[in-house]
Amino acid sequence: MKIGTLASHSALNIITGAKAEGFETALYCTPDRIPFYKSFGLGDSIIELESFDELLELDLSDVIIIPHGSFVAYIGADRILKSDLQIFGNKELLKWEEDRNLKSQMMIEAGLNVPREYKHLDEIDSPVIVKTHGAAGGEGYFIAANKKEIEENLDPSKKYSFQEYIVGTKIFTTYFNSIAQDRLEIFGADIRYETDADANLRFDDRPSFIVIGNLPVVLRESTLAQYFDMGVGFVNAFQKLVGQKLVGPFCIETIIDRNQKIYSFEFSGRIVAGTNVWMPTSPYSFTLFGEQMWMGRRIALEIKQLMASSMLDEVLR
Ligand code: ATP
Repeated sequence: MKIGTLASHSALNIITGAKAEGFETALYCTPDRIPFYKSFGLGDSIIELESFDELLELDLSDVIIIPHGSFVAYIGADRILKSDLQIFGNKELLKWEEDRNLKSQMMIEAGLNVPREYKHLDEIDSPVIVKTHGAAGGEGYFIAANKKEIEENLDPSKKYSFQEYIVGTKIFTTYFNSIAQDRLEIFGADIRYETDADANLRFDDRPSFIVIGNLPVVLRESTLAQYFDMGVGFVNAFQKLVGQKLVGPFCIETIIDRNQKIYSFEFSGRIVAGTNVWMPTSPYSFTLFGEQMWMGRRIALEIKQLMASSMLDEVLR
């Protein structure tokens, strides 16, 4: 079996990790990006596609696909769910991520502290973040201090949800749920730097939340212990609501306020780009493995161990 992914997002992380564990690799790459990936010596992995859509036309019976954020964005949850791609992870989770109501249900079941969601404009009594439905990367979001400000900015043709705006530090914590080792591993945390919400100077109240990159952050150990418990809650909630074991990497997206209260506003059930900051290792994966272990390698190691014990079918969902 080969390990493959689309050439974007965390492909360097994934492909380098698969190679480190001795796998053959397939990097599906559009022509414009070939020189970039070749510059890292990955020419032997490249399979050229005119567009990422072509992936679905290929015979991928000997490839385990590692889904990442761009993979989900380009191919779309719907087509992934209907496809017979051998995906490492839970296809089912994509549905829970995409639907705001299901997403909230999962986070509440996990025991996470989620920002208040207002059902009606009349209930609003705090600053809010107004989220458009189906937007990726915070596009079209705006913040408002009160109901009047919201009403002035609403576009009647769009569907919105209104969430309590939490002032604090954004922390994205990644985990790896190992089926082979039967354990939850806390992997690391990062801060997503967003333009221009994170800029020092702005002259309007419509910041953009477009992600520019990620910064590593090492949490206070006592705080990290709290995140570990949150991860355990998430794994259990997933098992209960979906009836499957959660496979591999996932991320809980949070804001910590001035009282050190942790609010969770999102999750991702796959590798996130924030793990790129922890190549070649995170402090916690080093503690666990006694050697360098980045997320791409961790995924490949899991696949190798499951293959050795004939359990691979359990993680290709
Ligand atoms: P992505 O899919 O890239 O995660 P998204 O469209 O699902 O993006 P969110 O992750 O929900 O959007 O939010 C985008 C950004 O908006 C967050 O990274 C954060 O900066 C800000 N944000 C979201 N919810 C809140 C909140 N309740 N309080 C304060 N800021 C928030």
